[in-house]
Amino acid sequence: MQKRGRISVRGIVQGVGFRPFVYARACEFGIAGSVKNLGSEVEIYARGERFTEFLAAVSRGPPMSRIDSVDVTETTADIADGFVIKKSGTGSFSGMIPPDIAICDDCIADIFTPGGRYEGYWATSCVNCGPRYSIIQEIPYDRERTSMDTFPMCPACGGEYGDPHSRRHHAQTIACHTCGPGLRLMDKTGTDVPCSDPIREAAALLDAGKILAIRGVGGFHLACIEESSGELKSRLGRIEQPFAVMVRPGFIDQIALVSQDERELLESPVHPIVVLEKRDHASHHTISNLHT
Ligand SMILES: [Zn+2]
Ligand SMILES: [Zn+2]
Repeated sequence: MQKRGRISVRGIVQGVGFRPFVYARACEFGIAGSVKNLGSEVEIYARGERFTEFLAAVSRGPPMSRIDSVDVTETTADIADGFVIKKSGTGSFSGMIPPDIAICDDCIADIFTPGGRYEGYWATSCVNCGPRYSIIQEIPYDRERTSMDTFPMCPACGGEYGDPHSRRHHAQTIACHTCGPGLRLMDKTGTDVPCSDPIREAAALLDAGKILAIRGVGGFHLACIEESSGELKSRLGRIEQPFAVMVRPGFIDQIALVSQDERELLESPVHPIVVLEKRDHASHHTISNLHT
């Protein structure tokens, strides 16, 4: 016997791929209906014999979500065959915005796939990763309410965005070489420095001891190698300020003591900055001298 209902899901349900997740579960359990972003909640109309299984799956949510409540109410609304993702509504704008999510392993693999659409593209992302907090201007979370609104999707990105079988189905940050933001290298006067590969050129400048301001989606990062960190501190006039350190995977254990909890934090999808204890308190003092 078919069951039906209106399901309201609240919590961190914006920017975590909730709608494509619901769509995929509806296909899996043969559910008819729709899903819609209402700002502070996701509203689902559902009908089907496996309604209960669908509800249980939806209640678990995609990996980056946090479900605070799931309410099911009876509905007499018409629920047509098939399942659709509806255009976002304009409910109350009190939903929680998720943090930026570090690039996922699948997207890293895309960047290093020779001949692929995303080969070498720095802003590659998908429904499971990419900026959120930094780019969302308003919720509901849709591309036109993010700082990506000035980069209309090319046909290839539009195709992936609309493909229920793609990892980029309804990924609001989808972008590629053709349609997405590009990179430029500028000198300190703001004049473009001609070069074919700004990332490679920037890396060479860092290796040579230069201090760079790297502009990303969330603002500027000042960057340099350890040998230049004293110079950066003196220019900033903040001699005591510790700097965040970027290291290759596996190297961190050579310079810091990492507990299990700290390692889990470092390796979590958000990849946050984590404060660690230096192995040798007197070492790397130009980066941080909080131990001495
Ligand atoms: Zn990804
Ligand atoms: Zn594109």
